[in-house]
Amino acid sequence: MIRSGESTIWTELDFDKAGKQVGRLHLPYSVTRSAYGNIDIPLAVIRNGDGPTVLLMSGNHGDEYEGQVTMVRLIRDLEAADIKGRVIIMPAANTPAAIAGARVSPLDDGNLNRAFPGNANGSPTWQIAHYIDSVLVPICDAWLDLHSGGSSLDYLPFAAFYQTGEDKALDARAEGIMRAFGAPRSVRVTAAPDGRLAAASGHRRKIPYLGGEYGGTGSVNPDGVSITYGGTLRVLAHLGVLTSKRFDIKPAGETRLMQLGGHDYYVHAPETGLFEPATRLGDTVKKGQLCGTVHFVDNPERPGVPVTFKRDGVVVCKRHFGRVEPGDCVAHLATDI
Ligand code: CA
Repeated sequence: MIRSGESTIWTELDFDKAGKQVGRLHLPYSVTRSAYGNIDIPLAVIRNGDGPTVLLMSGNHGDEYEGQVTMVRLIRDLEAADIKGRVIIMPAANTPAAIAGARVSPLDDGNLNRAFPGNANGSPTWQIAHYIDSVLVPICDAWLDLHSGGSSLDYLPFAAFYQTGEDKALDARAEGIMRAFGAPRSVRVTAAPDGRLAAASGHRRKIPYLGGEYGGTGSVNPDGVSITYGGTLRVLAHLGVLTSKRFDIKPAGETRLMQLGGHDYYVHAPETGLFEPATRLGDTVKKGQLCGTVHFVDNPERPGVPVTFKRDGVVVCKRHFGRVEPGDCVAHLATDI
């Protein structure tokens, strides 16, 4: 059994054992209805001999489903004989959030992707982040973390790698994994990641990390599932881990290489109201172009307030919900490289 120095999360899974194990991490959670209770977090460990270790993760945000579908399918489909090395699959990383169909955990309002590097003495979400960061990531050679827009956003599916800008070797490995993944669009994120993101944990641990957004609207985008399932198999083959010929792995298609920069790529609502978008996902827009209009159904005499794009780009993300409050992101852009 692998345990970190501090984490109270424990498991019967043996990370060094050959074969396929599907089990649980146990996070002790003592509450009124269950004094000696655990939060059980599903985890699969598949090992066959020596080779790289790849961490495959979804459910970092509980309401992002395409990756979760792909990961549970891979747990059933992959056998030890198919691989060389080790694959660790965590399909519902923030399990309480995934079961609730929510971005954040109902137990502590914890947003796992704002909780890294975590805290062994924190509430469940921070304990999960700490376990991933201090136990799983250090034994891995690559890390895939599949996201989507969740309930509030919709995305044109793309893979995303977060450039360190400093560690050229790490950046090259991560970009190689992104190209092997072969999503229809691939985004290089040039802004330094918020230090609480999983991507920042990958940077600190010097493990190539591939994220990406594969759908949204609180639903399952079948194109996103197809992209993530095929892409994950291609990455495993690229790393020399998937050696089986049993899978019908299609070659990576042409990817549109794009970039995502800083605040000017994002558009936010200025007021509370009903947002009418003026563009669709995939539209090419110019700086100053209308992104949408905030209407005031409780004050219909008042003209709608126009909201404009701050730069040229392609609309890759838009808000799903109609109602907005000040500060809600209503769209964001990416630009061609
Ligand atoms: Ca997300």
